Amino acid sequence: MGMSEIELQNKKYVWHPFTQMKSWVSNEQTVIAEAKGNKIIDTEGKEYFDGVSSLWVNIHGHRKAEIDQAIIEQLGKVAHSTMIGLANIPATQLAEKLVEITPSGLNKVFYSDDGSTAVEVAIKIAFQYWQHCGLAKKSRFVSLNQAYHGDTIGTVSVGGIDLFHRVFKPLLFEPIQIPSPSCYHCTLSVGSDTCSMACVEALEKVLQENNEEIAAVILEPMVQATAGILVSPPGYLSKVRELTKKYNVLLIVDEVATGWGRTGKMFACEHENVNPDIMILSKGITGGYLALAVTLTTDEIYNQFLGDLHEKKTFYHGHSYTGNQLACAAALANLKIFRDENVIDGLATKVKAIEDKLLDIRQLRHVGDARQCGMIAGIELVKDKENKIPYPWEQTMGGAVCIKARQHGLFIRPVGDVVVFMPPLSSSIEDIVCMLEILKKSVEEATSDDNVMSSISGAAYF
Ligand SMILES: *Cc1c(COP(=O)(O)O)cnc(C)c1O
Repeated sequence: MGMSEIELQNKKYVWHPFTQMKSWVSNEQTVIAEAKGNKIIDTEGKEYFDGVSSLWVNIHGHRKAEIDQAIIEQLGKVAHSTMIGLANIPATQLAEKLVEITPSGLNKVFYSDDGSTAVEVAIKIAFQYWQHCGLAKKSRFVSLNQAYHGDTIGTVSVGGIDLFHRVFKPLLFEPIQIPSPSCYHCTLSVGSDTCSMACVEALEKVLQENNEEIAAVILEPMVQATAGILVSPPGYLSKVRELTKKYNVLLIVDEVATGWGRTGKMFACEHENVNPDIMILSKGITGGYLALAVTLTTDEIYNQFLGDLHEKKTFYHGHSYTGNQLACAAALANLKIFRDENVIDGLATKVKAIEDKLLDIRQLRHVGDARQCGMIAGIELVKDKENKIPYPWEQTMGGAVCIKARQHGLFIRPVGDVVVFMPPLSSSIEDIVCMLEILKKSVEEATSDDNVMSSISGAAYF
């Protein structure tokens, strides 16, 4: 098949994220032309299930009438005006709604544009907060091994994914890293049956010894998504909240991936009734339509920034598109759909359907673990199941499975050798079953194929 004009143009001009461009340009690529519901459609008219919600952002499917309409209506008023020196209508209304639905205590909303910027905001607010409290020594951050909080320098500093983050080390500030609460990979307990949450003990030790220097603990609640859908054991999150309170350290929860119903509840914090000091939301906030993010804080934090001008307590931070009206209008429509369609209540049966299919997939010879938290699932591929021995990294087995899936009409992406399944919440049970059947078939095909390397060399995977 010849290369289309648009594909040639893409390869000539565009540099893709997280992509080895050498293999991208030398292989056939899919160009998306449109989308409808839970499917994306390429320039040849071929349809694919959007099995990762366009990288974890889409919630109610594509071209959702109510969101389309909200943006069109807002366009008839104003697309964007600055928040520096001016207020606007949708950003104001959205802030009130966000305070209403997030865990209690989070009463102020700071806008930015994407997950990374909102995490930067959280880090800077936490840092400056302790200065205003007269405890300037509290300046360090505790983060998890395998953490992912974005790709800007501050967020990479609290990140823990060696492959992405190592090269930038000389540019970063150093967090105190604690073990990832991941049962399948646990090296702290003798086995997951004997779990006494040694990962929590490690955190307590760090807080005990260093709390006078620690500003905050930052983590992804319930699920470390980019790390490979690592699901924390029950009780972990609430224990972290208890300890951060005990040692006078702020708790920052990054719900960029887990927010908006993904874990089966509106926010992952709700699973353990946790009220954080700072919460970050983005990805699904506009239903997957436009870039928008928020950092929510308590009154206690906000109030410490109040003062006379000469005290210089102002939070000097902002972005050009902060509080963009189109994005806020989309977010308001997103919230209205959650309410009108009882989206959260409707998830239980879908979550169960995923659970049932995973039972099946877990039996496969090269599936080491199949983890799930609500509408998020991760299937970890291993060379030797018995001894949990991974495939050689260069073999990109996760990528191989995703290439097979694409041939069968399902678009998914791996993180390393963990195949991620995170469909739009609007996926029907039939859609879910169909997607997971394709996924299962793809795992079987890829892991039994001796020529995997040649078949996927064009994948442009990590
Ligand atoms: C995606 C993600 C981010 C970064 O968000 P961007 O919008 O890509 O900058 C931060 N934290 C978590 C948990 C994420 O999944």
